[in-house]
Amino acid sequence: MKKKVAIVGAGLCGSLLALRLAQLGYQIDVFEKRPDLRKVTLDAGRSINLALSDRGLKGLRLVGLEDAAKAISIPMHGRMIHPKGAETYFMKYSGRETDYINSISRPGLNAMLLDEAEKTGNIKLHFNQSCKNVLFEDHKIQLQDVNGNISYYDYDLVFGTDGAGSAVRTSMSKRSSSLRFNFSQQYLDTGYKELEIPAGENGSFRIEKNALHIWPRDGFMMIALPNLNGSFTVTLFFPFTGSNSFEYLGQDDEKIVQFFNTHFPSAVPHMPDLVEDYHQNPSSSLGTIKCFPWSVDRRSLIMGDAAHAVVPFYGQGMNASFEDVTVLDELMAKHGEDWDSIITEYDDKRKPDADAIGDLAVDNFYEMRDATKDPVFGRKRALELQLENLYPDYYAKYSLVTFNEDISYHEAMTQGRFQDEVLMNFARGIDDVSKVDISKVKAMMDEKLKEFKAQKS
Ligand SMILES: Cc1cc2nc3c(=O)[nH]c(=O)nc-3n(C[C@H](O)[C@H](O)[C@H](O)COP(=O)(O)OP(=O)(O)OC[C@H]3O[C@@H](n4cnc5c(N)ncnc54)[C@H](O)[C@@H]3O)c2cc1C
Repeated sequence: MKKKVAIVGAGLCGSLLALRLAQLGYQIDVFEKRPDLRKVTLDAGRSINLALSDRGLKGLRLVGLEDAAKAISIPMHGRMIHPKGAETYFMKYSGRETDYINSISRPGLNAMLLDEAEKTGNIKLHFNQSCKNVLFEDHKIQLQDVNGNISYYDYDLVFGTDGAGSAVRTSMSKRSSSLRFNFSQQYLDTGYKELEIPAGENGSFRIEKNALHIWPRDGFMMIALPNLNGSFTVTLFFPFTGSNSFEYLGQDDEKIVQFFNTHFPSAVPHMPDLVEDYHQNPSSSLGTIKCFPWSVDRRSLIMGDAAHAVVPFYGQGMNASFEDVTVLDELMAKHGEDWDSIITEYDDKRKPDADAIGDLAVDNFYEMRDATKDPVFGRKRALELQLENLYPDYYAKYSLVTFNEDISYHEAMTQGRFQDEVLMNFARGIDDVSKVDISKVKAMMDEKLKEFKAQKS
């Protein structure tokens, strides 16, 4: 007899998890605080998109949706860098033509997962039902509807996929002394605001379609990802306080216009609604959440952002959440209905990887904001692209994380950081990459990696 499963949160992770469990024959009740995003417009109608890459695609492949997701995505082959006062240039994500990331609509992907989950016939979706508490001793979820009515749901197994502000995690933390529940939340001084580059004439793209655009500046940056309708979702990553900050610009139209004209002159002509968007859209914070354990009693498990929210600079939060589902699925295949073993092994296996992607994402904030302007970093990046292009077995750190779903985040982090150090040192000693014999660089890297791996084992 399969267990009676409850999932709290029908976002990206919860919907994929529900779909996979339903495909395996579980009967599932999903409780979602918000209305059904397929029926009402959420987020004030803004198009919000995400970079979907190999780890996320692996999760979608598991449920048979990889091709369907790719069909509503736009491939992004690299970063289009818009320096201030200099020519725009393109930095490929990988030396292999087959490696690219995909821009996909968040609500579009979420809706696809919910549709597919419903089709299984094993899922009941309960919208406008907010989890207020989990009573772990009694195996009950306390729920509240939009009118304030309280109800209780009895579960055999409960999954908390209710995002960074997880109520399931909060319920766990209330038992912190008996559970020895560790929790940390590390905010960046930088927050974000979504803006837009609308489509051009006849739904055309006003700037290069197949790229993730970055305008790196001192202490802040702006990025843009393409949408199918020709528009770009633009995100300004900006300090909350200081000389150039949300606080400094306040709600002052003149300051806002002057700031964008000074720092993003090439983008402004493409942003006709800039000032209106700036006022209308919230300034939100960014943080990393680490916590442990993720289960109270092997009958509960938090996954996705609820367990490990990361800052968005590696484009991996959703991908990591989908990988959570893949890992859980592998353990279900191994342990059958033995959820004690599944959850125990999941926690042990997944925690180092979740910590790794949290740390990598913070590192990448500084890389995207600052290092993309550094000539040494530019030479190092050129070297790694040549290595990837000539040697199919070579994966730079970015590629280990993004395009190599068969190694763990933790392994990608340790090996990738080591390779970075070797290549940065090399790049400091040269001024012209075209004069470098790349086969010698590969031989040096192989040698050093051999020593590095020998030390690790
Ligand atoms: C600006 C930004 C850009 C990003 N870009 C990328 C990217 O390019 N690539 C990438 O991989 N990741 C990206 N991410 C991260 C990604 O959005 C998250 O990692 C991902 O959404 C996590 O999915 P989740 O299902 O765990 O949480 P969520 O998507 O947050 O879903 C949680 C769900 O739970 C519901 N919920 C919350 N509380 C309750 C409650 N009490 N009861 C019931 N339901 C509840 C919510 O309404 C929501 O539907 C980005 C994040 C941000 C902030």
